[in-house]
Amino acid sequence: MTDSKALSLDDLPVRDELRGKSPYGAPQLDVPVQLNTNENPYPLPEPLVARIAERVAEAARGLNRYPDRDAVELRTELARYLTRTGGHTVGVENVWAANGSNEVIQQLLQTFGGPGRTAIGFEPSYSMHGLIARGTGTGWISGPRNEDFTIDVAAAEKAIAENRPDVVFITSPNNPTGTAVEAETVLALYEAAQAAKPSLVVVDEAYVEFSHRDSLLPLIEGRPHLVVSRTMSKAFGAAGLRLGYLAAHPAVVDAVQLVRLPYHLSAVTQATALAALEHTDTLLGYVEQLKRERDRLVTELRTAGYEVTDSDANFVQFGRFGDSHTAWQRILDQGVLVRDNGVPGWLRVTAGTPTENDAFLDAVRQLKKEQS
Ligand code: PMP
Repeated sequence: MTDSKALSLDDLPVRDELRGKSPYGAPQLDVPVQLNTNENPYPLPEPLVARIAERVAEAARGLNRYPDRDAVELRTELARYLTRTGGHTVGVENVWAANGSNEVIQQLLQTFGGPGRTAIGFEPSYSMHGLIARGTGTGWISGPRNEDFTIDVAAAEKAIAENRPDVVFITSPNNPTGTAVEAETVLALYEAAQAAKPSLVVVDEAYVEFSHRDSLLPLIEGRPHLVVSRTMSKAFGAAGLRLGYLAAHPAVVDAVQLVRLPYHLSAVTQATALAALEHTDTLLGYVEQLKRERDRLVTELRTAGYEVTDSDANFVQFGRFGDSHTAWQRILDQGVLVRDNGVPGWLRVTAGTPTENDAFLDAVRQLKKEQS
């Protein structure tokens, strides 16, 4: 449709809280080395691609019917994966899945947040928590962090007591800083949140497979208001699949049924995710390689004279820059796309293949020379 009159979204009768806001938008630029969205750089192995084709073909024969609305087989396999790797036994009744962990978070906010309610996160952290809060009409409270990007427990407890939020987000390992959160911190904030409201505490573990530490999953035991969210976008190397999931008390799983769209997970998605779960061991092998590369990036960046935040994720926050945007552009000029998350003085690089990481390290060494 062509329209002679220029019409912008501000001319539309959109909800007041969306007026003047920008959508989530990591630049998708066509450059040789893309280390900006925390993707896994390794394509799925060919035997898995073949298995996906097989399972999808099987699913295609039944596409005249709606998919399994409750995704029971998939949730059972996700529960098996969590039980094997997360240090805690969970069953299908503890697990819920959706199109990416972003949708999991959206469903949680639709259920436990919403108009007249609030959610808190400790920033800098994953910006979508605040954006999804806004999209669901949930008020957003930005809580504090320490200078070293760990959570300031006393300040966080105070913010929870004062604001009495309905949902508390704790991201571990945190994005964009890479910082893992201690179990004691989660327990302290859970207690504070229960005393204040009680509220739902969501531990976003999108990157936990890359961590030096164990998952916080066992903490859900006996804590019905604690939710752990996960994704197949990072460790499983399947960002294009769009499959996220949560583990929690079965009552939480029942609660999100109130807002989920019927048949939200297509039969193709369920079949693909099930095929990927059959290849868990191979995929976790790539995670080990990426952890080694992440540690190499930390060491080499420090050797090159950069400050680096300790990382438990598949990315590294490095700085400091007087003007991080100019530094981002200089690295881009050398063919390497990293992420400027808007944290003053810092940039974030995703661990790629050894060759990609070498290209990045060359670029930042060059930048250091220019700046000294
Ligand atoms: N949580 C965190 C902390 C993330 O960084 C991301 C993606 N970058 C997500 C959740 C969402 O991932 P997805 O929707 O692909 O599962």
